[in-house]
Order: sequence, then structure tokens, then C-alpha cells
Amino acid sequence: MTRPGPTSASSSDQADLARMLRRASRSRLFDSLVRIYEDFPQTTCENCARCCFESPGVFFTEYLHLVDVLAKMTGRRGSTFIFRAFRELFFSWIEPGRTCIFLESSHCLIYDHRPLACRLFGLVPPQDRDRAEAEARLAARQEAERLRLFGVDIPEEVVQRSLVSCDRVRDAKGCPARVDGDAIAARVAHLDTALLPQEVVLQEFCFRSLPERLGAAALGGEAVEGMRVQLLRRAQGGERISDLTALILKQARLPTPLRKKGCARR
Ligand code: SF4
Ligand code: SF4
Repeated sequence: MTRPGPTSASSSDQADLARMLRRASRSRLFDSLVRIYEDFPQTTCENCARCCFESPGVFFTEYLHLVDVLAKMTGRRGSTFIFRAFRELFFSWIEPGRTCIFLESSHCLIYDHRPLACRLFGLVPPQDRDRAEAEARLAARQEAERLRLFGVDIPEEVVQRSLVSCDRVRDAKGCPARVDGDAIAARVAHLDTALLPQEVVLQEFCFRSLPERLGAAALGGEAVEGMRVQLLRRAQGGERISDLTALILKQARLPTPLRKKGCARR
């Protein structure tokens, strides 16, 4: 589910992504990111893909990494993901069956590049899981009630679908696998400080997904919030979500590295 992004004038929404990508490349930030990913233990799980029910939050360096991955995709693939990102950004509240934009037939199509949040899933201690899940559902219910005031009816399945962890991930010995998630997240956040002011890194941390970051960059964070209610109402009034998504993409000014993809397809 999408959450309102920061509206500070110094947020990462204003970043010139082409320039940031060059800086990340010069500083070898993606190499550092991959080294952090490679420190994870080998694990197995049931591959049910339930944890892929929505696009994960990404740190800014991870966002650039994914933009780089999308920009290098050939054919229509990158455009398809961009289309799905805008569809999730605006319509995930009324599409209970939607999943992460990178999931197809229970497979992650960017598995080698998947961000930290995906790699940590099921690896952090479960003590606070029930509380965290209850908090996530409460936040979803409050947002659903807010949207209802604007005439948007949110299905109960959407409110209930939060999943914050999993106890079926095993290490090489078959034991529950564990890592220090906070320490690893701090390492990735530290990479962001090479690109953004410290206060922006702390303010945003990783709680913004690729669709949220892309939408804010292409349309402006405040504009996204204003448009969402209108679009949800139009969809519930009978207009096709795919047509509405194509309409938004025509208005969007995609970041330069993705512009050659043109108006994305579903
Ligand atoms: S981590 Fe858990 S929820 Fe995710 S795919 Fe594996 S078994 Fe399923
Ligand atoms: S990026 Fe891949 S692993 Fe992560 S939620 Fe999406 S499909 Fe699942």
C-alpha cells in the first residue's frame, strides 16, 4: 500500500536522477550495494510468494539501482514495469489481487537485483511480528476510512493483506535463519548519504517503494496524493483502470534515464 511521501523541498523527489546515476556510478555505490547483498546467508523457503503482495520499500541507492536496471531492459519489459508501477501507485487500494510489480507466475523477475526489504523478509526475529502486523493493518484501516470520506470504498481484503514477516525461512542447517536487519539497513542507508543530505536520508529511510518514488519524481509527491482520490473514484465509477493508468502516464514526466521507454504498456 502506498503512503504519503515527504513534502520537504529538499526531499529526494527533486533529485536529478541522471546526475545521481552518474555520481552513484563514479562512487561505485552499486558495487558496494551488491557487496552488502552478498553478505546475506544462503537460505531456503517455500517460495510461496505471499511476501510479494506489494512492491517493497527501497532506499534511495536501491531506487537508483532499480532505475538503472529498468533503463537497461530491452524490448517492452521496462515499459511494462513502469506501467505496473503507476497502476500500483494509484489503484492498489481497490485491487486486492495485485502483487509487486516485478512478480510474474510466482517468480521475481529481478531476483538478482531485489532490494534489501525482500532479502530481509523472514530473517529478522519474530518477537514483534504480531504487533507490527496489527499496526500495519490499523494504518491500512485508518487510510481506508480516510478514503471512504472522499467516496472511495476500500475492499476489506486490501485492509487485511499486510504481511510483515514469515517463519518458514531456513539456513543451510535447516534452522530458522536470522540476521541483524537494523545493522544491514544502516549500511545501505549510509550509501544514501553519498548522494543525499543526512536529514533527507533519516526522514525517508526505506519506507518508499519504487512506484511511490517514481510517481513523486514524475508527477510531484503532492500531486500524486491529490490525483489518487480522483482516479480511485473514476475507477469505482466504472472507468477501466488500465485506461486511467495510460492517461496518467501521458501526463507524467518520467526521469530522463527512463524517458526513452516512452508511454509504458501493461
Ligand atoms: S519468505 Fe515466506 S512468504 Fe516469502 S516466499 Fe518464502 S515462504 Fe513465502
Ligand atoms: S522485488 Fe521480487 S522478491 Fe521483492 S517483493 Fe517484488 S517480486 Fe518479491
